[in-house]
Amino acid sequence: MRKIRLLITLCALTLSAGQLLAWGPTGHRIVTQIAYDNLTCRARHRVDRILGEKGIVYWSTWADNIKSDTVYPSSHDWHYQDFNPGMCDSAVIATLTNYPTVGGNLFRSMDSLIILLRNDRSNADALKFVVHLMGDRFCPMHTGHLDDLGGNRVLLEWFRQPRNLHWVWDEGIINAVGYSYTEYAEYIQHRYSNQKQTIRHMSWEELLLHNYHLTEEIYQYHDCWNGNAFVYTYHFAPAMEWQLYAAGIRLAMLLNEIYG
Ligand SMILES: [Zn+2]
Repeated sequence: MRKIRLLITLCALTLSAGQLLAWGPTGHRIVTQIAYDNLTCRARHRVDRILGEKGIVYWSTWADNIKSDTVYPSSHDWHYQDFNPGMCDSAVIATLTNYPTVGGNLFRSMDSLIILLRNDRSNADALKFVVHLMGDRFCPMHTGHLDDLGGNRVLLEWFRQPRNLHWVWDEGIINAVGYSYTEYAEYIQHRYSNQKQTIRHMSWEELLLHNYHLTEEIYQYHDCWNGNAFVYTYHFAPAMEWQLYAAGIRLAMLLNEIYG
């Protein structure tokens, strides 16, 4: 374990712009690896049987890859839920059941897919969607503001490249840290294991508020940020890692309930 900690410290100290060429789906793979590591033997066996030899981590990015597929023509709206700035807690919580009629459909589609999966546990496509969307649900810019398309219109410079705030939270911070998905999943599980019971006992309302307040903090930080991507990464990496861990633990809870 000491060796792992040393490796992590060394990696963290050698962040460089040259490491930015990592792949985009790393976040979904981290979430899914954490979930898989927390499945019961029975749930793991059943999930493996449904998804075949490629396995659950491989399929965690499928929902992004088929966004333009004609089989699921409306699925591009399932990956995000829009909010407005400065909402009170009760208005934020209300979106969980009173689905907004404009913008993304993440909460509605997840609820429908989970019901579908409970009734048809061997439905591989429903399982792949749920695995992916659980990750999106905990990504702060997938619950961003409607008027800037979840940070897509908030332009910024990231290691001298023109980017936007949405991209920074999908890929930028994870890529800047520079671990493979297995290294990062291992590190996060070691670092945040003391949070597991808290996350397990949090209600969906509490998890959503946690996410919403983080999103608001991200927007406010952007307004006074000096543009240094290293500073940004060190500032927000722990909050991002908590979100990835929470997504993995809640995905495992759900799959254990359905397949365990
Ligand atoms: Zn997505």
